[in-house]
Amino acid sequence: MSFAELGLAPEVLKAVAGQGYENPTPIQAKAIPIVLTGRDVLGAAQTGTGKTAAFTLPILTRLAPMANTSVSPARHPVRALILTPTRELADQVFSNVTAYSQHLPLRSTVVFGGVGMDDQVKALRAGVEVLVATPGRLLDHVQQKTVALGQVEILVLDEADRMLDMGFMPDILRIMALLTGRKQTLLFSATFSPEIKKLAGDFLKNPETIEV
Ligand code: AMP
Repeated sequence: MSFAELGLAPEVLKAVAGQGYENPTPIQAKAIPIVLTGRDVLGAAQTGTGKTAAFTLPILTRLAPMANTSVSPARHPVRALILTPTRELADQVFSNVTAYSQHLPLRSTVVFGGVGMDDQVKALRAGVEVLVATPGRLLDHVQQKTVALGQVEILVLDEADRMLDMGFMPDILRIMALLTGRKQTLLFSATFSPEIKKLAGDFLKNPETIEV
């Protein structure tokens, strides 16, 4: 199995080659074709398996055909939202998004707590199609009206078990309620507690389960 066989956009394949990746990891080989169909995914994967690329590469491919090159921020609504439990993970995911989208006219940024709001506000106001965020700080921005989430099509809950362990369930539910245009949801978790199963049951539609 090679990356070229998975159905990714040429710009995304070019970025993958630029990273020096030769072959997809098992979770990438399984997840990429499914995410490309638009189906919901329940993924069991630990960090280090290549799961970030497993969801980012097909998301970028799905957003690519309608990438908007207009400079007006209003025309750059957030279309993909990736929620992570910690700022370290948010930052890591964001650097992957940046690398994999470098040949596409898509903008992205990251917001997390513990740092000032100003730079984040500036980046959000400029307009981004892909937003990586921790739940609490995202809600701060929603409250300040620096970001609107009604046009988010794709939601990723990354390391969902850790988000629940950290007490983010109420924030996640509040965010979910704002995602009125949500079409596809990808939930990744290293473990499947009853709470994760309930979250999946409540928010995933006929998901494909992927384990590696
Ligand atoms: P992750 O599990 O998403 O945190 O990824 C773990 C590490 O594997 C990251 O440093 C990625 O850059 C790297 N990686 C992801 N996919 C591949 C691949 N197909 N081939 C080689 N390295 C990869």
